[in-house]
Amino acid sequence: MIRVGLGQDLHRLVKGRRFLLGGIEIPAGRGELGYSDGDVLAHAVTDAVLGAAGLGDIGALFPSSDAAWRDADSMVLLRSAFSLVKNSGWRLVNLDCAVCCEKPKLLPYRDNIRYSLAQALDVSPDAVFVKGKTGEGLGPVGEGTAVEALAVCLLEKE
Ligand SMILES: [Zn+2]
Repeated sequence: MIRVGLGQDLHRLVKGRRFLLGGIEIPAGRGELGYSDGDVLAHAVTDAVLGAAGLGDIGALFPSSDAAWRDADSMVLLRSAFSLVKNSGWRLVNLDCAVCCEKPKLLPYRDNIRYSLAQALDVSPDAVFVKGKTGEGLGPVGEGTAVEALAVCLLEKE
């Protein structure tokens, strides 16, 4: 059996926060505002794998009403969510992602992000891809006040 999953997330970008994508910190002068560390890509990927397995979503597993998740490392949350997915018999076939932000350019960091996500998801880095997109100057992404991430994954079970 195979199942597809979709994840999307958006965070406001503000000064005084770290800019994290898939556990990799990128120097940007601004970072994601969030209850956890705000890692927008980790959140989108978490929702994609949980959704494919029919196991809920990130807000249900790690509610912001629970102080335990304040400033949480989102890659720890992703690993924890994916262990539920694995325990249900699924393995990841591949993951494809798009990160939409005006600045900075993601290309120099892309391979580090792929390796980081691949490690958390028990796959080879060539099963994970991440594209950088801009907002073409339009909307909050284009104005540089937000970053958005999209993720699609395929899970397989024997
Ligand atoms: Zn988020």
